Amino acid sequence: MAQKRIFLSPPHLSGNEQMYVNEAFATNWIAPTGPNVSQFEENMAKYVQTKSSVAVSSGTAAIHLALLLLNVQKGDLVFCSTLTFVASANPIVYVGADPVFIDSEEESWNMSPLALERALHEAKKNRRLPKAVIVVHLFGQSAKMNEILAICHQYNVPVIEDAAESLGSEYQGRKSGSLGSFGIYSFNGNKIITTSGGGMLVSDDVERLNHAKYLAAQARDPLPFYQHQTVGYNYRMSNVLAGVGIAQLQVLDERVEAKRALFVRYKESLRHIEHIQFMPELAGTKSNRWLTTFTIDEKEKVTEILNALEKENIEARRVWKPLHTQPVFSSCRYYPHLEYKSVSDQLFTKGLCLPSGTSMSEQDQDRVIDIVDSVCHSFKKRGIVQ
Ligand SMILES: *Cc1c(COP(=O)(O)O)cnc(C)c1O
Repeated sequence: MAQKRIFLSPPHLSGNEQMYVNEAFATNWIAPTGPNVSQFEENMAKYVQTKSSVAVSSGTAAIHLALLLLNVQKGDLVFCSTLTFVASANPIVYVGADPVFIDSEEESWNMSPLALERALHEAKKNRRLPKAVIVVHLFGQSAKMNEILAICHQYNVPVIEDAAESLGSEYQGRKSGSLGSFGIYSFNGNKIITTSGGGMLVSDDVERLNHAKYLAAQARDPLPFYQHQTVGYNYRMSNVLAGVGIAQLQVLDERVEAKRALFVRYKESLRHIEHIQFMPELAGTKSNRWLTTFTIDEKEKVTEILNALEKENIEARRVWKPLHTQPVFSSCRYYPHLEYKSVSDQLFTKGLCLPSGTSMSEQDQDRVIDIVDSVCHSFKKRGIVQ
């Protein structure tokens, strides 16, 4: 019989969730937004140290709202990291704007300041600067924010941080997602903490976030009857799910340490294998190590490792397929790191994410390690590694 399945990053409850959910039921505050939502927002803003936050139904909705707050419209340009999940860029299309994709650099695997600079320089020359830049912090690792913010400041373009994967991570002592004009988080089931589904928009711009709350609740004017001056959205988080979020946030720091410990154990156990390189941690940053990720020198090896893991009922994944290579975005512009070097394409070809659930036992982690180890050993025996 097949062994129990090991998932990539399954939900890990703290035990306190039920209490907040029960309270919502006991007070019949199932919907709409209620005390759990306000509490969760307050706790999140305090945790990431922003002045305000808005709890919404998904990370994708939070990105959509951020674009609306920046008045991004049909025909506008929005720059976005290419090495990411498709949800980073979909909202650009929701508002009718055109995405332009920016490559990664090797030290953080995130947005290349060089490629960004080139793209902005060219956009200015064409008199078509982007309305926003969406910077993603991949697998928990913060992008080079000092460089990116400086360049964007020079061209006067606001930055939205897609911190869906990097809640709890730090950049020079500040929480990832709190450095740009807006930051977004996701509480989807596979993220470091979850509300089963949900997201958060954060910012120091209290006025704009109040407008986000208005837009996210069907843009209803504060009148005794239903009146609307603009098109709104049904994007608010439910009071039940916010209860789950409150309890999850209480254990976030523990989860970060657990993910980091998993990473260290993988790295120590696999360090003897040649040609494996674990995702780096940029100096001055602390990654939440949402997923332990490494590259190996050949595409075929990635396939072989993934197949071996799947055969043993273990879920592992490739690194995100860059958005500039996605059929849905085939007509979009792309700026590689160097004119003739695309870093994200290489990371996709050679990259692999290992199961990184914080509830995973050492025995389960050993199952993963043993398989990766034996497949890599077989490469050597077959002379695939010189
Ligand atoms: C998960 C994720 C999102 C989307 O979040 P949802 O809550 O699933 O809408 C956006 N960007 C990145 C990088 C993600 O990993």
